Amino acid sequence: MNAFGVYVHVPFCRERCDYCAFATYTDRDHLMERYADACVLELQRAIGAGDLASATSVFFGGGTPSRLRPETLCRVLDAIPRAAGAEVTVECNPEDADAAHNTLTALHGIGPWTADVYLLFCLRHGDAWPAGDLAVQEAVKIGLGLKTRPTAKEMAPLAEPWRPMRGAAAHLWWAYYRAIRKREGVIADKEKTNAVSNTARAVSNNVPVAKGSSAEAKITTGQLPRSKK
Ligand code: SF4
Repeated sequence: MNAFGVYVHVPFCRERCDYCAFATYTDRDHLMERYADACVLELQRAIGAGDLASATSVFFGGGTPSRLRPETLCRVLDAIPRAAGAEVTVECNPEDADAAHNTLTALHGIGPWTADVYLLFCLRHGDAWPAGDLAVQEAVKIGLGLKTRPTAKEMAPLAEPWRPMRGAAAHLWWAYYRAIRKREGVIADKEKTNAVSNTARAVSNNVPVAKGSSAEAKITTGQLPRSKK
């Protein structure tokens, strides 16, 4: 089969960059759905006229395609005849982690954890927040002295004070989790213990630690909270 690529231009941006020469707009968001309708109509006409081969790759560029609602993006994608295993690429604004997360998870087979880890480790996104990661949840529970491990939904408001660096906070929580797990049942040396406790304090930022909790006592005294079996 011959390679055949389809490019879909999405001309909507949140802000206009001085250096950009692409056809994009910041004041026409109200036309997003109608623009998608027009794309689908154009595709249907091309298919009806026998003018469109099955795509081996589809690229959504712009503009900022991740500004479209995931359902809208998928509506256009579904209108494109695609060969088995076709590659699909969507440009995302690197500052817009939530939009990128939503766009990725709208694609069949990509779950929230996969999307967040992809954003963090492949795109090195500074604000991606792996709310469903069990190690981060457990570290947040211990570090903030919560009674139960927070769900992915409960993790979202906890991380609000750490925007736009929630990804960096996640790395710190992973480091904290690793440190407390490695030292389970062992009194760590003071220098390392203080470093971990400082990390927990830095990450906890404006999020209140439960008063009187064992985690609060241990963090404020520079002692590692122990994880429970
Ligand atoms: S397409 Fe990219 S570079 Fe151009 S205005 Fe939009 S965000 Fe800026």
